[in-house]
Amino acid sequence: MKTHIPYVKPSSTDIELGYVRDAVENGWGKKCYDYIHRFENAFKNYLGVKYAMTTSSCTGSIHIGLAALGIGPGDEVILADTNWIATAAPIVYLGASPVFVDILPDTWCLDPDLVKAAITPRTKAIIAVHLYGNLCEMSTLLEIGEQYGVPIVEDAAEAIGSVYHGKRAGSIGAFGSFSFHGTKTITTGEGGMFVTNNKDLFDKACILNNHGRNPTQVKQFWPDLIGFKYRLSNMQAAFGCGQMDRIDELTKRKREILNFYKKALNDEPDITLNPELTGTINGAWMPNVVFKKNMGVSRAMLQEAFKAENIDARVFFYPLSELPMFDRPNPNSMATSISQRAINLPSFHEITLEEQSRVVKVLKSLIPAR
Ligand SMILES: *Cc1c(COP(=O)(O)O)cnc(C)c1O
Repeated sequence: MKTHIPYVKPSSTDIELGYVRDAVENGWGKKCYDYIHRFENAFKNYLGVKYAMTTSSCTGSIHIGLAALGIGPGDEVILADTNWIATAAPIVYLGASPVFVDILPDTWCLDPDLVKAAITPRTKAIIAVHLYGNLCEMSTLLEIGEQYGVPIVEDAAEAIGSVYHGKRAGSIGAFGSFSFHGTKTITTGEGGMFVTNNKDLFDKACILNNHGRNPTQVKQFWPDLIGFKYRLSNMQAAFGCGQMDRIDELTKRKREILNFYKKALNDEPDITLNPELTGTINGAWMPNVVFKKNMGVSRAMLQEAFKAENIDARVFFYPLSELPMFDRPNPNSMATSISQRAINLPSFHEITLEEQSRVVKVLKSLIPAR
């Protein structure tokens, strides 16, 4: 049996361990928020935003952000059909309806024309998910948002390190949400971040994430409304501080891994990987290959070929519209088509050239002779 190649795993060093050890030994009482504030400040500086609040997950951050925007029963929220469920679930928690629109063939993100067509008087937000590190067409989406008075928010869980015309992904919309799940470019085990430049929205989000307790409230244990409790611990934040010390190294390495695949597959005109459009930098969280339609390479064939070589390969997200709780499939969509002929590639930071070459070999073996 060939050695196993995992698809992702965290990168941890003595830097992270040192901070976590300090948090465990000393980070209590008056110091119980020290690493949390340090992590938030480091993240804020990296992203170039005014406000940042740690959360226990990206799901929680999206839930809080949408609630702070006032989204509730009867409202509609537009997002791309190709997504992880975590982006859609908070819409449902709030009693609103997700509206799925198709993706663009090159970026695999929201098609702005279809977003425009999906807007109704009930549309209260548009979530731009920067899929696999690729970037949504933010300037067009912001124009549409402006025209219809609908906020654009960013799910940047997969896009730390991605830059859109000089601005970091997650720093552009009404708010941005990040994930530090163990599969993401930087991790805290589980965790997330809520960022914004809007002070009112930030204050609301902070109150919501503290069980509705307002910092101006003088009475102790006196919540003013029903809120949430999606908080990160100081120990997890300590790990995150170590990851932020290494953020440039970690994102650079992700890009190197994607670029190796791109170079190795450069002479194959019928397969495409994550694009990097003019004026953007792809943070390269997850390299994906998409085979051209006429090649006859299916999701099942890809999974089988990688399994035979003991390599983890995860499927490209199924369209959310196909899931049983939504059940409004659109069989002719780009979201359906691409997911049937694409696959995630291994991209953990310590992957070796030999391991990446094994992955490339599997892909090449599937390409029919021309
Ligand atoms: C990972 C991910 C999330 C969820 O993050 P959690 O921290 O696990 O809640 C949300 N959206 C996208 C696009 C993701 O990839």
